[in-house]
Formats: sequence, C-alpha cells, structure tokens
Amino acid sequence: MSEVQLSGSCLCGSITYEIHGESLLFAHCHCQRCRKASGTGHASNIILKPVSVKWTAGEQLLRRYKLPDAKRFTAVFCSECGSSMPRVAADNSIVVVPAGSLDSDPGIRPDARIFQDSRAEWSCLGDDVPAFDKYPPKA
Ligand SMILES: [Zn+2]
Ligand SMILES: [Zn+2]
Repeated sequence: MSEVQLSGSCLCGSITYEIHGESLLFAHCHCQRCRKASGTGHASNIILKPVSVKWTAGEQLLRRYKLPDAKRFTAVFCSECGSSMPRVAADNSIVVVPAGSLDSDPGIRPDARIFQDSRAEWSCLGDDVPAFDKYPPKA
C-alpha cells in the first residue's frame, strides 16, 4: 500500500481530475467485462482508498453504465469521447482509476494480473507480474 497522487484526463480533454489516496491494488484485469468496456486485452486499473477526489474540469460530462446483473461493475466514461474515467464507489470507499487516463507516471507498478482464467489467448502476457484466476488472496 502506498500513497499516490494521480492526475489524468480523457481523450478530448474535457474532463480532468486529481485524486489522492492509498493504492490498494494496481492490476491488469483480464475479465470479459473489462475487455468489452476497454476494447483491449485487459484493463489496467489502480484501485485506491481515496483521501480526496477532485474533478478539475468537466464533471458534468461523466456518464455511468451499471451492468444490470453485476454487483459492482460500472463503466464510467466521458460522454464526448468515450474514454474510461475513474469510478468512485457510491459510499466513497474506493476509487478505480483507469491507468491509461493518467497524465503522469503514478510511481507505482502493477501488482498482479487478475481474472487470468478469462484471459483471451491473444492478450499480452510474458512479464513477471503475478497472475491470479480471480482476485489475489487478501494480504
Ligand atoms: Zn472526453
Ligand atoms: Zn475486469
């Protein structure tokens, strides 16, 4: 767990954010939902316990899509350009930040590949990041 100060924006630049918190997990997620939502082989998300979340521009452009049969899975994106944006849990307990939206190096590196059992055969692999079929066991 380490303290991170993140800032990022969407593709069109309408939405910008600054998030400060304790990182809990930085993971490449290979689940099918993340693949569909991102259009790529895996999502790369920093999950953190927020200290502060500041939308510095464009908060009104955020849209949410909650998957009806999912407990938590919600896609948050810019209504102008469709870029994935940070998702703040309803009770403010966690924030999921898509690493690709960051504008600077977060200073931390992925801890794990998760939902490895859903990985598409063509998706990248071949580093030494630990991989788990679902979530990693609690530390
Ligand atoms: Zn945008
Ligand atoms: Zn996923």
